[in-house]
Amino acid sequence: DREEPNYFGAGPALLPTSVLQQAAYDLINYNDENLGIGEISHRSKPAIQVIDDTKANLKSLLNIPDTHEVFFMQGGGTTGFSSIVYNLFANYAKKTNGKKGKAAYAVTGSWSKKSAEEAQRLGFDVDIVVNTKDKKFAEIPPYSEWKPIDAESTAYLYVCDNETVHGNEYKDTPAPDYLPEGVELVADMSSNILSKKIDVSKYGLIMAGAQKNIGLAGLTIYIIKKSLLEQPSDEELNKYGIPLPPIAFHYPTVVSNNSAYNTIPIFTCHILKLVTQRLLDNGGLEKQEEINKKKAQVLYEALAKYPNFYRLPVTSESARSNMNVVFTLPSDELEAKFIKEASENKLTGLKGHRSVGGMRASIYNAVTLNSVELLVDFVKEFADKNA
Ligand code: PMP
Repeated sequence: DREEPNYFGAGPALLPTSVLQQAAYDLINYNDENLGIGEISHRSKPAIQVIDDTKANLKSLLNIPDTHEVFFMQGGGTTGFSSIVYNLFANYAKKTNGKKGKAAYAVTGSWSKKSAEEAQRLGFDVDIVVNTKDKKFAEIPPYSEWKPIDAESTAYLYVCDNETVHGNEYKDTPAPDYLPEGVELVADMSSNILSKKIDVSKYGLIMAGAQKNIGLAGLTIYIIKKSLLEQPSDEELNKYGIPLPPIAFHYPTVVSNNSAYNTIPIFTCHILKLVTQRLLDNGGLEKQEEINKKKAQVLYEALAKYPNFYRLPVTSESARSNMNVVFTLPSDELEAKFIKEASENKLTGLKGHRSVGGMRASIYNAVTLNSVELLVDFVKEFADKNA
């Protein structure tokens, strides 16, 4: 057991204590079979059941239509950056009888930047349609300012739905009118999946590492439009001069093996099952979204009351993340003092990412409104004393 932590770490992040307690038991003795969940074969019936239940929970929570499939892979978000490129370009070659094509990337923070760089590194043709680096990722510009997409030659548009480090988020489906028909929308939702309702039918592919909002490291969730699973044969790809996706990250192979082509970390999947079950039992994403909005609102409001003390680097209000609330103080000394005194008040995990400094309160699903209110009280007190 443990006292409820008020922990705002960005990832790996807080999980509900009740889920961890159940999982801890199951790690030792699952279903009273005298064996732990991590000790059974990934092809055994109980393991397959865990995978199927987790998929069913995700389908139910996100209202995933029959046009889409859910699967899991290892390798985290970073492997997603690479696997997306191989698989979607292979699919594009299938659709166009061997065309190489290019991909459009919207760079709105360090994670989309990394993803674009990986696509380039792997030798694919990348078109950066928007890049806010010079503005320190302080906004998501209106689509009218994005470079138009060449529908004839573009396989997909890639966005990072929530930039974990810089704290900006698309509040609605990205690029609604901007995206030409036939160009697939691909989104990294590693730090906000299951934080809000989304319209899955609008996406070609959603990718999300589990270790922030909904689980442990070790599993990445993919939700893919089934038509994107079609790929040329290896021989055809070779003939076209398009690289083959590595087999463990070859989406059609993973899907046709129910996410267990190779050994799936079933304990991590089990945690995901418990977290998604709990979300369903507690009123689904509608309820969770309402709580998340409230948490973000009270925290941003508290910070905004002291505009000369707390600075919000995401200047565009509508782009401020409901998951990662990033803010700075007037000096390094005050920031260090803030972290120290917060920790003395049992408010932890508030240090900003090493690349940007400052403060970051990650208020994922498992962080309660009560924890956020305690942080709000501290934010006010600290400003009153030090401003
Ligand atoms: N995308 C986003 C939005 C992230 O926040 C992170 C991790 N912080 C990643 C990708 C990379 O994930 P991983 O460490 O699992 O490779």
